[in-house]
Amino acid sequence: MFPKKTQNCQLEIGQLIERATLLLATNSSSPRLDAEVLMAELVHCPRSTVMAFPERTLSQSIGDAFQTLVELRAKGVSIAHLTGHKEFYSLDLKVSSDTLVPRPETEMLVDRVLSQTVPLQAASILDLGTGCGAIALAVKQQRPNCRVVALDLSLEALRIAAENGCQLGLEIEWLCSRWLTSLGNCSFDFIVSNPPYVEREGVHLLSQELSYEPRLALDGGTDGLDSIREIIASIPNVMATGGMVFLEHGHQQALAVSKLLQEAGFSGVKTENDLAGYNRVTLGNWL
Ligand code: GLN
Repeated sequence: MFPKKTQNCQLEIGQLIERATLLLATNSSSPRLDAEVLMAELVHCPRSTVMAFPERTLSQSIGDAFQTLVELRAKGVSIAHLTGHKEFYSLDLKVSSDTLVPRPETEMLVDRVLSQTVPLQAASILDLGTGCGAIALAVKQQRPNCRVVALDLSLEALRIAAENGCQLGLEIEWLCSRWLTSLGNCSFDFIVSNPPYVEREGVHLLSQELSYEPRLALDGGTDGLDSIREIIASIPNVMATGGMVFLEHGHQQALAVSKLLQEAGFSGVKTENDLAGYNRVTLGNWL
């Protein structure tokens, strides 16, 4: 319930947001937006309501809770981890410290699968390293006739993914597995993955921005390609003839990923850029 305007209270929403914006200015590129989103989450109202009524006041306990969230944000915890959810392909997904926060560029993987299928097609799709289930759920929502299998090594991440599936009423076959090791005898028309691909000793992995996300979902070994190598080596066993693979990777890994795919027997290997213009997804056909 949005708080009422009361007399004699010091905790006006507008003032709290101003103060939080100042505090966040050094650490965030969108300090006011962050403050407004956190406030909206706390008072269970849309951000527009928070913005429209800056004179409304809060109880001391909500004010304290807001301060705690703002301080965590100032330490680099993502808004998604603070609010516990993140939008991906227009789906509101639960996330936790056990899952990567889905990035906008990962929506490309969904776009690519959708562009290769038609709405009622019953293709089979495998999502490797599903995390909170983002790719699998977005594809299933758009292509309900498809069979979607999604796996992850982290049982905790899979729990969140399954919760998201239940919440959205989308049926996915969730599987706990290190890449393909626990997958039985089956084949897929499309394999998609946003695997860990950050270089272990690189500055990016050590950055504050990534320090609250699970290492397991980010650390790609010395050159960032360990998981990608493992995936490419094993997927030919489960690719249907005429199938396709779509892999997300770091912006400097396109050549290496393309070479690995070609050496594994994929044809028509090609890299596509994300909206920021960086090499982001490499695909290949299995003929
Ligand atoms: N895109 C993420 C980042 O650079 C990394 C995701 C991944 O390793 N799969 O922050």
